[in-house]
Amino acid sequence: MKRYLSVSIILLCILFLLPLATVVTHVVQKVQTQQPSSAEEPAQIELLPHGETDNSYTVRVLEGDTVKEMSMAEYLQGVVRAEMPASFEQQALCAQAVAARTYTLYKIATGGNHAGIADVCTDPKCCQAYLDKEAAEKNWGDNAANYEAKIENAVSMTDGETILYNGAPILAVFHSSSAGQTKSAGEVWTNDLPYLQSVSSPEGATVPNYYSRVEFTSEEFKKLFLAAHPEADLSGDMSGWIQDRELAEGSSVDHITVGGIRVRGTEIRSIFSLRSASFDTQAQDGKIVFFVTGYGHGVGMSQYGAQQMAKDGDTWQDIVTHYYTGVTVAVYTPEQLT
Ligand SMILES: [Zn+2]
Repeated sequence: MKRYLSVSIILLCILFLLPLATVVTHVVQKVQTQQPSSAEEPAQIELLPHGETDNSYTVRVLEGDTVKEMSMAEYLQGVVRAEMPASFEQQALCAQAVAARTYTLYKIATGGNHAGIADVCTDPKCCQAYLDKEAAEKNWGDNAANYEAKIENAVSMTDGETILYNGAPILAVFHSSSAGQTKSAGEVWTNDLPYLQSVSSPEGATVPNYYSRVEFTSEEFKKLFLAAHPEADLSGDMSGWIQDRELAEGSSVDHITVGGIRVRGTEIRSIFSLRSASFDTQAQDGKIVFFVTGYGHGVGMSQYGAQQMAKDGDTWQDIVTHYYTGVTVAVYTPEQLT
């Protein structure tokens, strides 16, 4: 009887589970067949022929202690792989390639940061990040072939195209995301540049970690700030330590007073390692809390802004002429440098 019962249970289970299994298989198949469109990647992206201009000259790239010579095309592919997510729209990747090419030509024209040994280095804090094909493919996994095609196409589709102001390559700096408005060079660094002005930027809260929150205990806060400004007075109630936040255009902090010392918002960003200089502060439960918007120095092209523009149908030309004020775009090589 027991055996009969267990056989019945097994049979019943099979009866119920079989249709379920069919449904599950069907759903899985459906999801799998829908995968390319939901990931917004076509099955296979065609690799376009490489450009001639970027292949016609060599860039000296300092990596650690070694100077590697490579074509401008090869160098730019490495920069775009490292500096922008390959999942971004093709036109955004093209804008990134043009900004990177322009930045490199500017460094070649002005002698760069490496005393004649190299034109550029692979340190993102100094020049531009660089990632070779093999390293990137490991990160990309199943998407590797399409992503590599998009990167190489971004460089070849814009072969030689350079952003110019008064006929010369510009300092085409870029950053991750902005708080609705980019910053002018003068707000962030010492010198203003006519083509690095504050412009609107369309990315919003869709950017990952667009809003971040960082908190410091009173002791942590004091230690960091006093290391930079030993003369500051951080005694008394901490709610009075930070005052007179003055905003620049957009929501970035131009100047702020901490412990009686007037400092630039960009310096506060650096002292407390904030993601950007767009921040507000509050004293909460014995801590100073920073509420930060966006990521990066905020000058020049916003990468997430470029992505949003591309999604809205703008071309790479639209993107670069939006973020860099009063510029033109043309094919350019180091031979044209005066
Ligand atoms: Zn460098």
